[in-house]
Amino acid sequence: MKILYFDIAAMMILAVIMISLIFRKMLSGRANRFYAVLLIHIIITTIVDFWAESYGVWIPATESNMQPRLVGCYLYFFLRNLTTPLYHLFICAVTDTWHILKKSKSLKAMLIIPYAIICMTLFSNLFTHRVFYFDENLVYHRGAILYVLYAASFFYLICGVIYLIRYKKMLTSDKFVALMLMYPLNVLAIIIQLFWSQFLVEMFMTSLTMLLVALVIQRPEQIINPVLGVRSYISYTMDMKQAFSIQKPVRIIFAKLVNYEALSSILEYDNCMQLLRSIASDLALSYKAANLPMDLYYVENGLFALVTENEQSQQVQDIAKNISEKMTAEKQIKHLQVEPESCVCIIRCPQDIDNYETLLTFGNTFHTYLPHGKIVNDMAEEKDRRMFQLRGEIDSIISDAVANQRFMMYYQPIYSTKEKRFLSAEALIRLKDEKYGFISPELFITAAEKNGMILQIGDFVLDEVCGFLARCEKDGLPMEYIELNLSMNQCMQANLKEKVLYYMNKYDLRPDQINLEITETAANKEQDIVAENIRELSKEGINFSLDDYGTGYSNLSRIMELPFHIIKLDKSLADRVNDSRIKVLIKNTIQMLQEIGMEIVVEGVETEETLQQFLEMGCDYIQGFYYSKPLPEQEFVKYVWENEG
Ligand code: C2E
Ligand code: MG
Ligand code: MG
Repeated sequence: MKILYFDIAAMMILAVIMISLIFRKMLSGRANRFYAVLLIHIIITTIVDFWAESYGVWIPATESNMQPRLVGCYLYFFLRNLTTPLYHLFICAVTDTWHILKKSKSLKAMLIIPYAIICMTLFSNLFTHRVFYFDENLVYHRGAILYVLYAASFFYLICGVIYLIRYKKMLTSDKFVALMLMYPLNVLAIIIQLFWSQFLVEMFMTSLTMLLVALVIQRPEQIINPVLGVRSYISYTMDMKQAFSIQKPVRIIFAKLVNYEALSSILEYDNCMQLLRSIASDLALSYKAANLPMDLYYVENGLFALVTENEQSQQVQDIAKNISEKMTAEKQIKHLQVEPESCVCIIRCPQDIDNYETLLTFGNTFHTYLPHGKIVNDMAEEKDRRMFQLRGEIDSIISDAVANQRFMMYYQPIYSTKEKRFLSAEALIRLKDEKYGFISPELFITAAEKNGMILQIGDFVLDEVCGFLARCEKDGLPMEYIELNLSMNQCMQANLKEKVLYYMNKYDLRPDQINLEITETAANKEQDIVAENIRELSKEGINFSLDDYGTGYSNLSRIMELPFHIIKLDKSLADRVNDSRIKVLIKNTIQMLQEIGMEIVVEGVETEETLQQFLEMGCDYIQGFYYSKPLPEQEFVKYVWENEG
C-alpha cells in the first residue's frame, strides 16, 4: 500500500516556505518571482499527487470514482513534468542569464520541445493506454511508453547540469551547490519510487531541495538594505559582476547625494537614514511612474544606482532628469530643513564602462569631476568622454609609463626674498601620454597611490632629482636644495630612510641638498611610522617642508612636534590675500611660524600685486607662475643662469 505521509510532510514544508516568503516580502525581482511561481507549482503538484494516490489507500478505488482518479493521474503527469523546465527558468533568473535565453532559439527549443513530446505522449495514452493503465482490479500499472517521459526528464537533467556548469561563475559556490543538488536528490527519489513504488518520496525530496534553495539563495538580508528597503551594496556588487561577466548590456543612472558627508555629520543617524529613505522612495517613484523596470540599489555614501536592461535612452534620460530635480528639492527632516545637492549621470555598459572595477571607481568618484545639477548623459560630450576614458585607463597608462620610463621631472624655481635670487626649486613630476597629452599629476598621483605604483614612481623621482642635483653641483649652478614631494604611501614605507640615503650616496650628495615635502594631510595621519620616518631622516640632516598649509585641518600640536623646517602656504591662501580678514590671518600665521623658527614659502603667486603683499609680510620664499611655471631641466637651468645676471 502507498505511503501518503511523505506528500503530507512535503505540503507542510512547502507551506512553511511560502509563509516565510510572504513575511520576508520576497516577491519582487525576477529571481524571487520565479521562485514563488516554482513554489506554487510544486505545492499544486503535491496536492494533485496526494489526490491521485489516495485512491486505494484512503479513498476506496471503485469504478464509479475512476473518472476523478484518472484526471488526477493525468494532471499529475502534466504538472510533474513541468517542474524541471520551470526550475530551469528559475536558474536563468538566478544566474541573470535571462537575456541569453530570450535571444537563443536553441535554448528555447531545448526547453519547449521535450515538454511538447511529454504532452503528446500523455495524450496518446487516452487511446493507447501504453503510458499507464488500470487493470480490471483497478490497480495502476506502468506502460512501456512511460519511459519516454523518463527519457525527456533525463534530457532536461543533462541540459540543466550543463547550463549550471556553464554559468557557474555567476554564482557563489554555496549557491551553485544548492542549485545543483536538486538534480541528484530528485534522481534518487525517482529511483526509490521506481523500485519501491509504495514510497512516494518524489514530492518530499523536491520540497526539501526547495527548502535548501530558500535557505541558501533567497536570502533577503543579503539582497535588501534593511534600513532603506532597496537593494544593498552586496547585491549591487554581485549583480554588476554578473552583468559584466555575461556582457549583459545595461544602463545605469548614478544619483549621488553630493553633500552626503556634510549632511550626515549634521543629522543624527536616524535622521540621515530618514533622508536617504525619502530619496530612495522618490527614486522608486520616478521609474515606476515611467513604467520602466529598474533595480534600485543603495551603493554607499549617498550613492544610488538605478539599473535597467532597457535600451530606450529617451525614457532613461527622462527618469534621470526627474531624479535630479527630486533629489535637490528641499526636504524637511524632523525640525531640520535640508538642502540636498546632487550629481546625476547615465552610463551605458559595456559601451562606456566595460569592467566591474572601473564601474566601482566611477561610482565613487564621478561627482568629483562631473558637473553638479546637470545630467551627464552617456558620456555624450567629447570632453566628458575623454576625461572619463582617461580615468578608466589611468591604471594602465601609469603602469605603461613606469615600465617604459615615460615620466619626466620639471623644476619650478623658488625665489629667496633675502638673497633676492633663485636658490631652490620644487621638483614636479610630469607624464605625457600619446593619446591624452599631459596628464595632471593630481590625477595620476592619486591613482598611483591607490594602485600601489606610487612607490615605483617615488623611486624614479628620487633617482632623477638626485641625479639633477649632482649635475647642478658639477656645473656650478647655485642650487642650495631641491624640494621633492613625498606621498602618504611613501611616508609609510618602512625602508624610506634607506631609500633616500641610497640615492643620496649614489650621486654623492649632502643631506642638506634634499628637502622633502609632506602634505598637511599626510603629516596629520596618526601613523607612528610617518613621524618616525620624518625624525630618522631629519637626524641624518635632511630637511622637511610642510606642503599645502592651510588646506586641511591641521592638528597644530602634532605638526609642531615634527621637525619641519619650512612651511609652504597653499595657493588658496595666496589667492585670497586681497581679502583684508584673510590677510590678517596670513600675516599673523607667517609671524607666528617664523617666531618658532620656521621658514615660509608661499605657493601659487601669479601677480605682481600678490607678490608685493607677501614681500611686505616678510615671507622667506616665493614660488609661482609670476616668476616661472615648472620647467624641463634644461630650460630651468637656462632660467636660473639668466637670472643670476
Ligand atoms: P604641490 O606639491 O602643492 O605643487 C604645487 C602645484 O602648484 C604644482 O602643480 C605647480 O605647478 C602648481 N603651481 C605653482 N605655482 C603656481 C601658480 O602660480 N599658479 C597655479 N595655478 N599653479 C601653480 P602640479 O605640478 O600640477 O602638481 C600638483 C600636485 O601633484 C603637487 O602639488 C603635488 O602634491 C603632486 N605632485 C607633483 N609632483 C609630484 C611628485 O613627484 N611626487 C608626488 N608624490 N607628488 C607630486
Ligand atoms: Mg609640493
Ligand atoms: Mg603645495
